Formats: sequence, structure tokens, C-alpha cells
Amino acid sequence: MPEMFDSSDVTGLSGAGPSPLAGTHILLGERNAETAARFTRTLREHGAASVHTVGSPEEFLRAGGAPPAPVRFWDAAVWHTGFGGDDGSLGRFLEDWRAQHPGIPVIVTDDAPSARLAVAALRGRAADLVERSDPEGLAVAVARAVAERADPLGVEGSGQGQLRMLVVGAHPDDVEIGMGGTIHRRAHSGWDVTVLTMSGGGNGGDPARRRKEAHRAAETLGARLRMEDLPDGSMVDDRSTVEAVERAVADVSPDVVVVHSESDTHQDHRAVHRATLVACRKVARLACYQSPSATVSYRPNRFIELSEVDVAAKLAAIAAHDSQASSRWYLDEDLLRSTARYWGRFSQTRYAEPLELVHERNPVLL
Ligand SMILES: [Zn+2]
Repeated sequence: MPEMFDSSDVTGLSGAGPSPLAGTHILLGERNAETAARFTRTLREHGAASVHTVGSPEEFLRAGGAPPAPVRFWDAAVWHTGFGGDDGSLGRFLEDWRAQHPGIPVIVTDDAPSARLAVAALRGRAADLVERSDPEGLAVAVARAVAERADPLGVEGSGQGQLRMLVVGAHPDDVEIGMGGTIHRRAHSGWDVTVLTMSGGGNGGDPARRRKEAHRAAETLGARLRMEDLPDGSMVDDRSTVEAVERAVADVSPDVVVVHSESDTHQDHRAVHRATLVACRKVARLACYQSPSATVSYRPNRFIELSEVDVAAKLAAIAAHDSQASSRWYLDEDLLRSTARYWGRFSQTRYAEPLELVHERNPVLL
């Protein structure tokens, strides 16, 4: 899966508010009647309107384009590897599926998912890979896939607002450069995204103007902005820095936090990274984005696929920092676009943003 967020910790299935599965129609490929009944029961308990089971790969592919009335379209499809056999056939199936039914997310189930299978799932851009013995895990994965379903125009986000992301940067524009595309993508698929900027960026110009630019940029991406007032250029990872991040964590209660990497030549970025590590020890997932000052030691292990629209939003958000545009080489549009294009090679997508995953409470295969 080219996404960094696995399904194991997704909140909201049992929380208040409507289930992400409410009203959904799921296509289930499963030969074993007992397993099919168990999956169906769990998915229905979580609000799925219908679960349609088929027993062969051919039927599955056919049903993908022809849901039985009154279902008009599938919200997600669940494929059991037992249909095909080895990993190669999973790849082939996912390729066929995407060619015939683009846009319908597929969750793959397997009795004992191997790393090799995970790679095949990743390459085929399956939405997720879950253990067949875990119906609850499947429900969470389906819910996430439904919520995350890419909508290139951003007009039809899931609106669930259940998943929360906090993105921390030392200066105005750091977060947009490292995470702008991902923020836009998440914010437009129902995530609640908060940007925490630790300083007004006084070294880069008039703080009042930079503040205004930062707000405009966050708005462009669909995120909320919080600003602290740490000294630009001389940040340290002391108690007050940790507490500033802790306050944001307490207010936002994020499912995931993303921050500068340790592998960065800028002292402010490193200080904010370290303070965030301390402040986020109880957060489910912590990852690091790439700053222009990242060193060659920055080693991403997650890649978030970006659409053209996400890239455009990222560039627009960066352009909102117009006081910086003329003086900073790394704000060059061609460089930003080609960087996203470059990282896309690792997720076999056109564009991507890289992340270094630091910790996650419930490890997944990828
Ligand atoms: Zn910075």
C-alpha cells in the first residue's frame, strides 16, 4: 500500500457519529461460506448496507462492473488471495481490476500475509492487506478505504472528520514544502488536519506578513493553522518546545503526527524534531517529512501518492508564501514538481511525498 496509514488503529468505527461504512455496498470475493458469513456479519454490524459475495475470480471481475440492483456502485471490494494462488496472480488480478474498475478500492485478505504478498499488494496498489481471521480488522480496513477513496476534484470528501493529523514545522512554509500534497489529499478525504508552526519566521521577513501568508497557505490545503512564537534560528529541544507541541497534541489528539526529520542540517528543524518525539510518545504514529535542508541520510520508507490536484494545491500553498518566493531556491516550481515526480518512482505513482516512519503502535506489514 503506498499509504503510510494502516488500518489497525483507525478510530471512529466504534466512536460517536455515523460509521464510515454506513450505507456502503461491498463486493466480497470469498469461497468459504463460513468466512463469508462472518465478514458479512461484521461489515453489516458496522453499517454496511449490503455485502455481495461471489465465489470465483471471474465472477468477481464481472460483478465489479455490474452490481446487482438496486446497488449502483461498489464502495469497496474484498479479494481473497485463495482465489488466485501465488503472489504473481495477485499482481495480475489487481492490474486487471484497476484496468476494468478504476477507483474502486480493493482490500486483500490472506490467511497469513507474507512480506512477498505485501509487496505484490503494494505494487498493485491494493488499499490494504488484512488477515483473513480478523473480521474486525477487515471492517476497519474497508472503512478506511472508503474514507480515503481518491476524489481528484475534492468535491466529495467522506466528511467523516474522524482521523486527525498534526503536522509540525519550525517555520512558515516548512510543512507546505514537505507535506503540502499529503495534507491536501487527506483534508479532502475527510481528515482533520492541523498545521503547527513553531515560529513566525522572523528571520525570513516581517513576521506579521509571514503569519498572514501561513494562514492563507493552510487554507489552500484545507488545514487549520496553529502558530507558536519560538525564536527563529535559535530553537532548542527544551521543555518549553516540548510543551508547545504537547499543547497541540492535547488539543488535536492526533492519530498521526508528522514532523521534520532528524537528518536535517537546520538546527531549528532538528530541535523541533526532537521535541516532537518527546511530546508524541503516546501518539499512535509518528513520521518525518522531507525538508529542503534534509541530508542524504533522510531515508523514507512510506510514500503518499499525490494526484495532479494535490500537487497543484501544494504549489499554490507554497506560492502563498510570496515574501519568500524570490529569495529561496527550493521554492522553484519545477524543482518541487520534479521532486514529487522522483519520489513517485518508489510507489509507482506519478507523484508522491516521502515519509520516514518513526514509530507506530500497531505495526503492519508495510
Ligand atoms: Zn524551516
